[in-house]
This record gives sequence, C-alpha cells and structure tokens, in this order.
Amino acid sequence: NRRNGTSLLRQCVGQLRFQTTASGRGCIRSSSSPISAISVILVGDRKDSATYVRNKKKACDSVGIKSFEVCVAEDSSEEEVLRSVSGFNDDPSVHGILVQLPLPSHMDEQNILNAVSIEKDVDGFHPLNIGRLAMRGREPLFVPCTPKGCIELLHRYNIGIKGKRAVVIGRSNIVGMPAALLLQREDATVTIIHSRTKNPEEITREADIIISAVGQANMVRGSWIKPGAVIIDVGINPVEDSSAARGYRLVGDICYEEASKVASAITPVPGGVGPMTIAMLLSNTLKSAKRIHNFQ
Ligand code: NDP
Repeated sequence: NRRNGTSLLRQCVGQLRFQTTASGRGCIRSSSSPISAISVILVGDRKDSATYVRNKKKACDSVGIKSFEVCVAEDSSEEEVLRSVSGFNDDPSVHGILVQLPLPSHMDEQNILNAVSIEKDVDGFHPLNIGRLAMRGREPLFVPCTPKGCIELLHRYNIGIKGKRAVVIGRSNIVGMPAALLLQREDATVTIIHSRTKNPEEITREADIIISAVGQANMVRGSWIKPGAVIIDVGINPVEDSSAARGYRLVGDICYEEASKVASAITPVPGGVGPMTIAMLLSNTLKSAKRIHNFQ
C-alpha cells in the first residue's frame, strides 16, 4: 500500500551523506551535500511525463538525493538530447541519468537510451543491462525500476516465488519482459501473455502470481484468478468519473473489486506499484553513487 511504498522508499535509500569534492554543475559542493545525484531529461510538454518527473524530484528531495532536470523543447533535435546525455555521462557529480519516456516521434528512442552510460543507467533500459538480465550467470548493473519494485514487494511480504507458476501480462521492454526475466531468475515457472494470446483467462487461472502490465482498465476479472493467487497490478489507466475533481480517476488492469475477493494479496491502483517504482529508482541511484565513489 501507499504507506508501505513510502517507508520502503526511505529504507531503500537511507540518508547517506559524506563529503565529496565533485563540482560539476555546482550542486554537490559542501560537506553536507547528498552523496547521490540524478539527472532527468524531459523532452516536450506532456502533462503525464511532467507529473512523473515532478514526483521523482519530490521523492529525491525527501531522501536527500540531488536531482537536476533538463527540459528540452518538443521540436528540438535528437542531437540536442544526445548532447545533454553526453554532458551527464561525463559529469562525475551525476550518478544516475533518466530520460523520461515516451520521446517525441521524430526522435529515435533506441539511439538515445543506448547513449546513456551503462554505469549511470539507473532506469536499467540500456540493452547491455537488459541483456545481462536475460543471461544466466550474468548480473546487470541496474534492473528496471517497475519490475524490480514488483519483486521487492513479493520479498517484503514474504511471498515465495521459487517453484511457483507466474503469469506476466504484457511484454514491453520496460515492464512485462524484464518482470518475466526477474521471476524466472527467482525460479518461478513463467508464462507471458500478450495481445495475440488466445484465451488468456485459461492461463491466468493456473497462476500463483500474476503481474499485469497492459494498460487496459479492469481487463482481468475475478473469474480469471485462482483462489489465493497473488496479484500485482502495474497498469495505470484513466477512466471517466464525473464525481472526481479532474473528471477522471485512475484504475489498474485488474478489476480490483472482483479480484480482491479471490486473491490472497493484491496491490491497489494508485498507491501500489507506483511508489515502488520511484523507490527502486532512488535505490538504483544510491547504488550507482556508492559504486562511483567506491563506497560499499
Ligand atoms: P506497453 O503499451 O508498452 O505494453 C503493453 C503490453 O500489453 C504489450 O506487450 C501488449 O502486447 C500487451 N497487451 C495489450 N493489450 C493486451 C490484451 N488485450 N491482452 C493481453 N496483452 C495485451 O505498456 P507498458 O508496459 O509501458 O505499460 C503497461 C501499463 O503499466 C500502462 O498502464 C502503464 O501506464 C503502466 N505503467 C506503470 C508504471 C508504474 O510505475 N506503476 C510504470 C510503467 C508503466 P503486444 O506486445 O502484443 O502489443
């Protein structure tokens, strides 16, 4: 729940501070400055992206991580974004770089994500980090935050993964696919459902653990779920609601009212996976700072 997400965030990041001589952009100078710093590149003026960036910045402030934000205009060139990435790659006072997705359609997302130094790839989207995640015996420097947060929730609630049947709904590079890889690394037997899967409800009914990252409001009904299953709902979907101040409210991919009667544990939307994603971003940033400063 939301309270646990926030307290986990504090536990994961701590309040580690020590003297650093880094100068760079002038934000890490004094002995009381935070050890770790993240740079966020926001391209364009999407309201949802701006909200996500604002929330990340607030979370950084709350645990003592310095955050820099670079806003690039929607019609800027890809080269301009690449220049910002390159500047942060070379800046020793920056430990994590995050390019807020999605990018405008005239930019090559792959080019830009590939340009982020693997050592500062706190989002875990660099192909080398994803490749290592997929390989046995290899360790990524960073694991993507949302799937990492899902697994952390299972750990913190002592929900066993080993030998369990897990179903991941969705196969995106940023959530579904790495979630499936992480579950497999933890010795679950994993099935992935995607938009071409036939009769998905027959597959989900076999699952002990379901992670859903689709983006379809209330798609998974109570009848899709095995009694006692554990449900992690990553989806964030706006649905019209005239009683809400904004005219809409957010719901997940799972029909919470139905599923909560069948499942043994379920994450709410909002307030379940969202705060965990931010906590894992901060945790990855701290990990990066400790590595860069050789402080284990
Ligand atoms: P994408 O759109 O990139 O991927 C969606 C996936 O769902 C695809 O693999 C697609 O299949 C699959 N899919 C779509 N429709 C169906 C269907 N009817 N049945 C089965 N599978 C389907 O989305 P993301 O992974 O980026 O995000 C998914 C959701 O999670 C969104 O609601 C997003 O807002 C939310 N999210 C939440 C975060 C958080 O912190 N809580 C962080 C990131 C995302 P195919 O591959 O065949 O197209």
